[in-house]
Amino acid sequence: MTTLPTTHVSFPAGAVTGESPVLAVHPLADGRYAVVTEATPFHPLDHTWPDQPADLGTLTVDGVAHPVVDCLTGGHGPAGEFLVGADIPVRRGDPEWSWLVLHVLATDPGAVTGRPAQLSVDADRRALLSAAHSGCHLLALALNAAIAPRWRKDPGRSDAFGSPDFDSLAMASSVMDTEASTDTYRLGKSLRKKGFTAEATEEFPALADALPALTEAVNAQLAAWVAADAPVRIEVPGPELTARRQWHCELPAGSAAIACGGTHLHHLGELAELRTELTLSEDGSELIAVTRPKRA
Ligand SMILES: [Zn+2]
Repeated sequence: MTTLPTTHVSFPAGAVTGESPVLAVHPLADGRYAVVTEATPFHPLDHTWPDQPADLGTLTVDGVAHPVVDCLTGGHGPAGEFLVGADIPVRRGDPEWSWLVLHVLATDPGAVTGRPAQLSVDADRRALLSAAHSGCHLLALALNAAIAPRWRKDPGRSDAFGSPDFDSLAMASSVMDTEASTDTYRLGKSLRKKGFTAEATEEFPALADALPALTEAVNAQLAAWVAADAPVRIEVPGPELTARRQWHCELPAGSAAIACGGTHLHHLGELAELRTELTLSEDGSELIAVTRPKRA
């Protein structure tokens, strides 16, 4: 395989269709086939931070529609190596590597290299994933604000609204699906050292007992933001898959920005409701937020 250029992507602007020449077809270790195009609207699973699942859809060449059953990130290394997803040994964006969107087909598409492909993403699935992803970022900001009094000292990192950034300091994992975003936060020793208090103090009850009030405060904030129909956009410094994109939301309190490689709503009025449910893991070591958007 000759060196392939990093794939150009149109999903940050919300595109779900496109046309682009096929640059290569690569057989995968599991018997499936990866089709690489010059540009694509498909959002692949990221290999470094796999929070938003892959787009699905179809890739049509010469009138034959091939179902795209998965979409992964591929890395084409300086020594000609071709690796997929978690097997890629370097972080996303390493300039020595080319970064490819892999449209995964279950069967060999045949001689399609060099032919134009029509790319079509399952728009319903995309819309659900975008809603869950926007919900994830809003939850982060609302939770940071509601949980802020539990910091004994400034942990040295704050969010767009000046709250200590509990979301990024405690984040263990963030996973979206078509129903919800599930964000898991670690309440361990290192968070306590940074100044976070999960125990009861004179000012507030233990986190476990404070969860109903905390949930209510977060949900009131999310409802207010949805009601304000705040616009959302992705700032795109370049067309490459690896460009450092940023999510921006013009909330009533000001503009919020979060680094993000995913897809999003265009404005919060696309939702009828956004609610989270906060729980603690059985041993109390993790706080789990399940945030469900309901589309308008
Ligand atoms: Zn994101």
